[in-house]
Amino acid sequence: MIEDYLHDVLGEVADFDGGSVADYIELLAEADPDPLAAALCTLDGTVYSAGLRPGDDELEFSIQSISKPFVYAQALQELGADEVIKTVGMEPSGEKFNELSLDGDTNRPMNPMINAGAIATTQLINGEDSGVEDRTERIREFLSRLAGRELAIDRRLVESEYQSTDRNFALAHMLRNYGVIQAEAQDAVRSYIHQCSIMVTTRDLAAMAATLANGGRQPVTRERILDVDVARQTQAVMSSAGMYNAAGRWMVTVGIPAKSGVAGGVLGTLPGQIGLAAFSPRLDSSGNSFRGVQVFQRLSRDMGLHLMAAEPRGRSAVRFITDKDDTTVVGLQGDIGFSAAERLWRTINRHEGLLERVRLDFTRVEGSNPIGRRMLLEGINRLRDQGHVVEVDDPDDVIPRARRDNARFEAMGDTSAEHQLLNQDPHSYDEDFDMGED
Ligand code: GLN
Repeated sequence: MIEDYLHDVLGEVADFDGGSVADYIELLAEADPDPLAAALCTLDGTVYSAGLRPGDDELEFSIQSISKPFVYAQALQELGADEVIKTVGMEPSGEKFNELSLDGDTNRPMNPMINAGAIATTQLINGEDSGVEDRTERIREFLSRLAGRELAIDRRLVESEYQSTDRNFALAHMLRNYGVIQAEAQDAVRSYIHQCSIMVTTRDLAAMAATLANGGRQPVTRERILDVDVARQTQAVMSSAGMYNAAGRWMVTVGIPAKSGVAGGVLGTLPGQIGLAAFSPRLDSSGNSFRGVQVFQRLSRDMGLHLMAAEPRGRSAVRFITDKDDTTVVGLQGDIGFSAAERLWRTINRHEGLLERVRLDFTRVEGSNPIGRRMLLEGINRLRDQGHVVEVDDPDDVIPRARRDNARFEAMGDTSAEHQLLNQDPHSYDEDFDMGED
């Protein structure tokens, strides 16, 4: 059901064809502009994904700037925050990703998310004297652990970017001039370009994001890769600088730490809850994936992701699950958002010997959001399809509202009044649907 939802979101943004693929790197300019994918990874390691076309979510593309937060995390993990701060700051620059800028007082790059800061951060890995190959191998290994599978470097892409990277050379010379890096400019740029050419899928990015959201433990492999402090610092810096000069608007409209790359990837983390990713190669004028941003805006709205919305969360949705006579009774509690509903259905599916009659007790449910309601409804339909008789004890009408939401979701592809009417539930309420009601 989550895949269906993701697919609906992709359908809504599919026709937005604004922006264009990055053309300053020859191989990227040749990229197919059309793939569109979204993925999310829960903190217990379930990855859900969808592609507009089958397989879009399994396509590999270069990680590009999305490597920056992870190499920053690697530097923090290996050297400690006190050492890393000597090389790179943590203030938003409000500038484009490749801006030729340093902090006026310290001569350090402002943050590790812009190229100046990223080139300097990369040089911290594997010691000052490391060669390019050893350094980039350390980075490739580290990112592979974060993704939970072996990632490869696209060597053709490295050479292609190397042909048109004068701006990064300018940055490396500037960093050398101020003593921020010691390496030859050519080696510093090559190391950085290698890390940008690591190939990932949208699913990989969701798992990497979920590792940050999970405080540094990779949710699929269960390996602890980063200390809790490192995961926190990385996400904090991402939240103020990850989307470059669009970082402020992003924080208002989406509201979670995020990072984008020029190949069209975007990832976001909701600390303590979920990792998200999207992929679509055409970029807007800030260098962020045009449709990727749209996908995130919708996920944030539907799933109630915005960090500043301060919705109560965290308690398990299932208060109890018990058999009474011929009925399995499931008592729910708290707020039913995405994470709660997802855990609810997994708990029910795992429950041995579910009886034919299932009663869902909503009396202790305090609130819900559209995606939580939609998942409740779809889960109930599934139980019915499996032959269960489902009863609900729902004094606050969570389920009728879910029906109403679903009409809206279904109508999204075709917002004509007639279509909406056709999708209206005959038992739904009279008042207009109000997205802001929760
Ligand atoms: N390799 C690219 C560059 O340095 C990465 C930029 C990006 O993804 N924003 O230009």
